[in-house]
Amino acid sequence: MRRRPRTGVPPAIGADTGLFLDVDGTLLDIAPTPDAVVVHEGLVETLNRLSAALDGAVALVSGRRRADLRSLFRGADVVLVGEHGATASVALPAIDAARGERPPPALTAALRRFAARHPDTLLELKGHGAALHVRRAPAAAPAARRLALALAETYRDRVRLLRGKAVFEFIPTGTSKGRAIEALLDEEPFRGRVPYVVGDDVTDEDGFAVANRRGGVSLRVGSADLRMAESSAHFTIANPPQLRKWLRRCAEALGSGARPDARGNHRTLRAS
Ligand SMILES: [Mg+2]
Repeated sequence: MRRRPRTGVPPAIGADTGLFLDVDGTLLDIAPTPDAVVVHEGLVETLNRLSAALDGAVALVSGRRRADLRSLFRGADVVLVGEHGATASVALPAIDAARGERPPPALTAALRRFAARHPDTLLELKGHGAALHVRRAPAAAPAARRLALALAETYRDRVRLLRGKAVFEFIPTGTSKGRAIEALLDEEPFRGRVPYVVGDDVTDEDGFAVANRRGGVSLRVGSADLRMAESSAHFTIANPPQLRKWLRRCAEALGSGARPDARGNHRTLRAS
């Protein structure tokens, strides 16, 4: 049963947190095309401060290809989970099982034909899936939706349709951000930590459910978006700039618990 998220200040990130962050619409402002996003100055540094304070238990969990995440967040010392959990920068048995799955060629071909007929749509082919973006082609959205639903029905044994913001995306059956987060929570450095899941879209709801089930925090970005007014997230924050500010403050607060060790390296003191 979904309920309206609570507004107000989200709970602080604690030293025992495992942090899972979506990228587009969460850490980064939505751009007209996936390539046009801007990684704000200081964001990688904030992520690294959080990672240092949480013993590396910070993951970016995104629909993007892992290679995209790596180049966007160059220098960030975080775990990267791409394609909604189909691929990760660490070995995860649950995720590895989906490796090698490709979208059916006939599905990809149908999407290609559609994109060719509707020039302002954008077809993004990934390692494990395909995404049809209609952000710049709102007039094509109803036809794209009909095609996506028909393809999802035809190939229901192999793919799952995700309907995000202005995008219809196919991922391998059995893949979800929630499954990826659960798999990470079984592994170091996330094992035994309390999940804190932050996202903005329907694809993040699986992750929110994991956080809620495990006594963690689910935080949705973008309370003004009416379509997302009903969410399983327990908390909400207005937009990506507010979230970035919030993360920076959390990093500072966690960092104030750090003291240099005998060799001058900083080490975080954890509550026992
Ligand atoms: Mg997002």
